[in-house]
Order: sequence, then C-alpha cells, then structure tokens
Amino acid sequence: MARTPPEEVAPLWHRASEAAITFRRDVAGRSAAPQHGYAASLQRFSSPLPEEGADASDVLDELVRLADTGLMTSTGPRFFGWVIGGSHPAGVAADWLTSAWGQNAGNHEASPAASAAETVAARWLLELLDLPRGSSVGFVTGATMANFTALAAARGAVLREAGWDVEADGLFGAPPITVVVGAEAHTTVHAALQLLGLGRERVVRLPVDDQGRIVVAGALATIDELSGPAIVVLQAGQVNTGAFDDFAALVPAARARGAWVHIDGAFGLWARVSPRSAVPARGAEGADSWAVDGHKWLQTPYDSGFVIVRDAAAHRNAMTIAASYLPASGEGDRDPTHYVPELSRRARGFAAWAMIRTLGRDGIRELVERHCTCARLIAERLEAEPGIAVVNDVVLNQVLIRFAVDLDGAAGDALTHATIGRIRADGVCFTGGASWRGREVMRLSVAGYETDEQEASRSAEAIVTAYRAVRQDQARGS
Ligand SMILES: *Cc1c(COP(=O)(O)O)cnc(C)c1O
Repeated sequence: MARTPPEEVAPLWHRASEAAITFRRDVAGRSAAPQHGYAASLQRFSSPLPEEGADASDVLDELVRLADTGLMTSTGPRFFGWVIGGSHPAGVAADWLTSAWGQNAGNHEASPAASAAETVAARWLLELLDLPRGSSVGFVTGATMANFTALAAARGAVLREAGWDVEADGLFGAPPITVVVGAEAHTTVHAALQLLGLGRERVVRLPVDDQGRIVVAGALATIDELSGPAIVVLQAGQVNTGAFDDFAALVPAARARGAWVHIDGAFGLWARVSPRSAVPARGAEGADSWAVDGHKWLQTPYDSGFVIVRDAAAHRNAMTIAASYLPASGEGDRDPTHYVPELSRRARGFAAWAMIRTLGRDGIRELVERHCTCARLIAERLEAEPGIAVVNDVVLNQVLIRFAVDLDGAAGDALTHATIGRIRADGVCFTGGASWRGREVMRLSVAGYETDEQEASRSAEAIVTAYRAVRQDQARGS
C-alpha cells in the first residue's frame, strides 16, 4: 500500500480531532500529575519493531490508549510546573494545518505562504514587545535555540569588529571574547555558549542579589573594564523568581564599552505588553538581541521561540545557508532559513500568526495581567498560613515557596519535598521543586491560558491542605 487512500484520510483525521477534543474537555477533571511515570509509560509503549504495517486508524487508537496514562496536564487550569504555556486551541488548530499542509518553511519558494506568515508575525512581535522595528526575527524551537542563535550573531559581530571572520574561519586563532553573565543566568545560556565554542564555564559571572538580579554597582565596575570583543548576557524574568536585571543601568554601560548585549527573556519579555508589569522590563529595547518564547506566555503549541536581533546583517551572517539549488532571495524576499540554524523545518510562523491574531494585543495583555494577579493571589494565601513563606518578590508570574520555616534548614528541606509530593498525590494542582540559594523550595509558574483567579484560589487551598497533612504526619512521627 503506497499511500493512505483518500477515503480513509477524513475518518482518520476526524478521529484524531475527536481524541484531542475529548482530552481537552476532560483535562481539568484529571489528576494534575500523570497516572504513570516514565518507567510505566515505557512499559506500555514497548513492543518489538513491527515487521508489517497496520491500519492507520487502529494505530491512532493504540497511540491514544498507550499515551493517555502518561500525559501531563500542562494544558489544564491548575498546572504550575516549570514555565509551560497551555497550547491554546487556536494555536493548535493552526499547527494541525501546518502539519497537514506539509510546508517546508526553509525558503520563500518552497512555501510563499509560510514565509509571508512569518514576515507578518515578526512585525507584530516587534510591535507587541516594543523592540526596534528594523530587527530581524527567526522562528526557532524555543528560547534555548533563540539564545544560541542570538549569541552566534553576537560572536560573529564582535569578532568582525576585531577583524576576524568567525563564520568563515572558525574560532581557532580568533581574538578571545569576554562573555559576561549573571550568576543566576538560565542554564540554556550556558548550553548555547557550550555549543558555540565559547565555553560553558569560560564566563565572567556577575554577583546577584537574593532575587537573582545582577548587582548593579559591582557589575558596572566589571563592565567598565571590558576591552576588546565582549558579550554581556542579561535576563528578563529569572526562571525561579521572575526578576529582571536592571536594563536601564546595565545596557547602555555595556554598549558604551562596545559589548554586544543579549537579553534572555523567554517569558519575562512579555511583561512589556502590560503597563502594570512593564516597568522592570524598561530599557530592554536598548539591547542588541533578545530571546523570547512563543510556547510559554503566547500559548502557541510546542515548539515555538523567537530570536530577535537588532543588526539583521549580523543575524544573517551567522545563520545563512547557501547552495546552488536554493533560491537566492531578492529585494524584499525573506527566507526563513536565514535567521535560524535549520534548513528544512516546520512552518512555525502559522501558529505564531494565529495566536497573535486570535488574542490580539488586548488579549495578550489580559493574559499576562491575569497570570500576575493569580501569582500574587496564591502568594498572599500561602503567606497567611503559619509555617509557609514566600521566598521571592512576586513581581511577575513566579512564586517560590518554602515550607516549615519554623524548623531548621534540613528539616525544612525535607518537609518542602514531602509537601510537593503530597500536592502531586492529591492531584488538584501540579507544582515543581527547585533549589534556591542553597535551600529546597517549591516553585509555581502561572503560565497557562486556562488559569484564572478561581483556579488559583482552589490551588492555593489544595497546597495549604497538603502542607497541613504533611505537618500532621510529621507530628505523629510517621
Ligand atoms: C524556558 C526558558 C529558557 C529555555 O527555553 P526553551 O523554550 O525551553 O528552550 C531559557 N531562558 C529562560 C529564562 C526560560 O524561562
């Protein structure tokens, strides 16, 4: 059978959409943590390599059955793990079409529509985030690759300034680059440096305060001493606390020393869409490049991130792939591949376009404001409970919680762990854990479009209930 007969496609795709609709309809009623972890899920999926094919509808049913017990409720209203958006139905619908259309977004000839949707979504993004309108935008898998791509552009530009063509000649023999990062930079910044030959550990780490913000006075002294090729990486939205570096102070100082300033704003840059949260993100527009996610606050399905670069030529120099069989882009043509590492890829612009079109500037602003309100509401409720402390300043959508603050450090660590476990077992909401400044904490990130004040309150009560139960068990010595 060379192909799926056309008369089988419609029932197959209807079945897929029915399974999707059922899952979304019921997700709020599920236990927030998956029924099965990885080991049990692997056992369900494990089977020998199929020698013969099977009916596509049967395969789909099998997939739904096998996956079901191991699916996370990240699209549900009470999911607060990591920083994970909710894959909004409008974005999912556009994403289905993206797959069905089967467009290769590599260049404007292979898919004029995909290239055009990206061009327009890129313009909208620059307006929404209020970044320099002439910047180039690449549609990547997420903030990890956005950091990578931006730092590749930075590497090329600062070395070109020093008379070295890194894209052609590589790093061996190149003038050294000083890379300056905050001590609480996201791990993917280090991953990007590792991939770029700049070294994960070969960085100058700037001291940070208790919110993970770079301490300005010391940083300015370090920045003032920069000479030669330099890259300074700042952060909008620390992944635990949601804190912002002081862009107004640091960005101009670093640029005055000739450094390239990159801002990792995976979720935090979206604070710029609301006057209520934009204040700490002021000055970010002065940087040279930015990383921001679509699949976090914009609620696009995975995978979706944006790399934005002020110097479009530096961006293209770092990413261009040329070959005789690929079209040369003419005046006004935008080839998506010039701004991302890959050649063939998914037409990510369709879902980004659809989400911005569906929510509009107002809808995105409402979403950010609602999530920030929910975060504060949860923090206030938890702080009212004896023994629970909110560890961070809740400036955005992130809340860090410490349990059993009346006990010593190790006992507090143990009860914080136990409480997170209890919350997951109770299944009302899902929260994460982290270590913050040497202590175990629970972290909550409000980032799903389904979460509102009511769901936030219900979750806060569930957390208090779980904590009380853990304390009771502890008092009984179990
Ligand atoms: C999530 C996040 C990243 C990584 O983004 P991915 O989309 O997971 O690749 C980088 N930096 C920060 C601050 C983040 O929150």
